[in-house]
Amino acid sequence: MKSIHHIKGDILEHLPSQAPANGDSAHNLAVRLMQHLVIPTFVLDANRRVTVWNHACERLTGIPAAEMIGTSDHWRGFYSEYRNCLADVVALKQHDQLDALYAAHASPGPFGFGLHAENWCVMPVIGERRYLAVDSGPIYDDHGKLVAIVETLRDMTDQKLAEMALHDLAALDGLTGVANRRTLDEKLDREWKSCQRVATPLAFILGDVDYFKCYNDTYGHQKGDDCLRAIANTLSRAVFRPADLVSRYGGEEFAIIMPNTDLHGAQAVAERICEAVRQLEIPHAGSETYPSVTMSLGVGAMIPTSGACPAQLIGAVDAALYRAKHAGRNRVVTAETD
Ligand code: GH3
Ligand code: MG
Ligand code: MG
Repeated sequence: MKSIHHIKGDILEHLPSQAPANGDSAHNLAVRLMQHLVIPTFVLDANRRVTVWNHACERLTGIPAAEMIGTSDHWRGFYSEYRNCLADVVALKQHDQLDALYAAHASPGPFGFGLHAENWCVMPVIGERRYLAVDSGPIYDDHGKLVAIVETLRDMTDQKLAEMALHDLAALDGLTGVANRRTLDEKLDREWKSCQRVATPLAFILGDVDYFKCYNDTYGHQKGDDCLRAIANTLSRAVFRPADLVSRYGGEEFAIIMPNTDLHGAQAVAERICEAVRQLEIPHAGSETYPSVTMSLGVGAMIPTSGACPAQLIGAVDAALYRAKHAGRNRVVTAETD
C-alpha cells in the first residue's frame, strides 16, 4: 500500500476539489476510489508487488484482494502458468516481448499513454476463457522515479466471439466449414505475390467429385451434402502445412493452394487425396468408374513471374482436371504450366 502514497499527486489532480489534499486521508481516498472503479484494475509497486487489486478485478478473476496484496502473483488471475502480465512488461521495459505474449498490441495505448494489448486468458480460478483488452502505464514521482504501474482490464469476450463469428461467416463455406471462394481468391493473390518475391513455386490443386449429379439423384440431396462434408473433412486432413489452404471452389469442386511447393510435392498431396476419398468408401451405385465416391484432380505448380497471373495457373490446372475426367475419372493429372 505504501507506494500508492507516491502516486497521490497524479490521482489528486483528478479528485473533486473538496477532496483532502494532504496526508493519509488523501491517500486512503485515492485507494478507495480505485477500489470502487467499475473497471477491473490492479496496481504494482516498483518491485512488481501488488498494492491494489480492486473489487472489479476480484470479480473478473475470482481472486480476493487479500490473496494478492503484497505478492507478485497477479499473473495467477489470468494464466495457469507463470508469465508476465502487461504491467510487468511496462515495469521491465520489455516491449520486445509483446509479440510473443499478446494476440494484438499497440504502443502507446489508445490514450497516448503506456501500452495496450489484447489476449485470450484462461482465467484459472473462474475456469472460463476470456478475451481481455488490457491497458497498462507507469507512474513516476516528481523526480522521474518509477513508483507504480497501473493495469486496467476490459472483458471483450462477447465482442470478440461476435467478431470471430462474423469473420467465419464471411470467410468459410457454410456447408463444409472449409474456406470459401472469396478467401481462396484473396489467399491466391497474396501467395502469388509472396512466391514471386522469393521466386518459389506456388502449387494449385482442383478436385471435382465424380458423377455427383447422379449421386444426388440416387441418394438424395441431403446425402449429397453429407458426402461433400465428408470430402471437405478428408481434404483438410490430407493437407498438413498451416500455410496451405483447402477451400470449396464451387458446387462439388474443391481447391487447394500450397505456397512454396513444387509440382512433385503437390502431386503427392493430390494422389493422397484421391486415395483418401476412395478410402471413405461412400457407396455410389451410379458411378461408372468405381463402386464408391471418387474424385478427379488436376494439379499444377509454377514460379510466378511478372508476365504471368494466377489465372494462368488456375486455367492450366482446370485443363488438367478436364483431362482427368476424360481419361476415366478417379485419378490425378498434372498441368502443363510452361
Ligand atoms: P463429373 O464426373 O463429370 O464431374 O459429373 P458430375 O455429375 O459430378 O458433374 P455435374 O457438374 O454434372 O454435376 C455436379 C452436381 O453437383 C450437380 C449439383 O446438383 C451438385 N451440387 C453442387 N453443389 C451441391 C451442394 O451443395 N449439395 C449437393 N448435394 N449437391 C451439389
Ligand atoms: Mg463440377
Ligand atoms: Mg463432378
